[in-house]
Amino acid sequence: MNYYVMTLFPELIEKGMHTGVLYRAMEEKLLSLECFHIREYTVNRHKRVDDYTYGGGAGMLMACQPIYDCYRAVETRRRLRAWEQGRKEKPAHVIYMSPQGRVFTQSVAEELSREEELIFLCGHYEGIDERVLEEVVTDTISIGDYVLTGGELPALVVMDSISRLIPGVLNNDVSAETESFTDGLLEYPQYTRPEEWMGKKVPEVLLSGHHAKVEAWRLEQSLLRTKERRPDLYEKYLEERT
Ligand code: SAM
Repeated sequence: MNYYVMTLFPELIEKGMHTGVLYRAMEEKLLSLECFHIREYTVNRHKRVDDYTYGGGAGMLMACQPIYDCYRAVETRRRLRAWEQGRKEKPAHVIYMSPQGRVFTQSVAEELSREEELIFLCGHYEGIDERVLEEVVTDTISIGDYVLTGGELPALVVMDSISRLIPGVLNNDVSAETESFTDGLLEYPQYTRPEEWMGKKVPEVLLSGHHAKVEAWRLEQSLLRTKERRPDLYEKYLEERT
C-alpha cells in the first residue's frame, strides 16, 4: 500500500507512521508514505494557504489553488512511480478527512485495504473551499461525530487501521481475524501469565487445552460483552442470523 498525504503538518503524519509495527512494515516495503506539504504549493508571496469566508462568519478557509496544485504534484509523483515500477497507473481514491463524511468503521477499513494506493487530504481552520473538494475528492470520511482542529489525526487513524489489515504487516495474521468488529462482535476477554494475579485467576477453561471448549467460551464471552457494551452491534448480529 502506498499512501500519499496532502497536509499542512507533514511532520505529524511522518512521526505518527514511523512507530512500531507500521515502521517495520515500511522498512519491509509493505507500506510506503509520502507527505506533500500544501504550503509549498501556494503562489501567495506570504505563503498563505487560507482566506476569509464569503458571506462572513468566523474563521478562515483553505483556498483552492494550493490544494489543487498539491494534488497535481501527487498525481505526477504517482505517474512517475508507476512508470519506474513498470506498472499501469490506476486512478486512486482521494479521501478528504471531514466530520461531514461517511463514518469510518472496520468494514470501510477492509474495503480500503484492498487498494494499492490511497491519497489523503487533511483540512484545517474552518475547512476547505467546496470547489476544490468537488474537483479532486472521491471519498469523504469522518472518524466520528466530533470536531478536531485538523485532518492529520483522522488520517493517521484511518491509515493505521487499514495498514494492519495488509498481509504481513501484523506478525500474526490470525490476530486481525479474531479482533473486535471483524465478525460483528466485540472480542472476548484475554489473559496472559501469571495464572493468578491479585487473587484473580485465569478462567479454568483457558488452561484446559480443549480447543473446542475454549472456542465456545470465547464466543459466549464475545456475545455477553457485545450485548452489555454495544447493544446496537448485538442487535445487528442477531438480525443478520435470523
Ligand atoms: N467547519 C467544518 C465543519 O463544521 O464541518 C469543520 C472543520 S475542522 C475544524 C478542520 C478540519 O479538521 C477538517 O477540514 C477536517 O479535515 C478535520 N476534521 C475535524 N474533525 C474531523 C472528523 N471527525 N473526522 C475527520 N476529519 C475531521
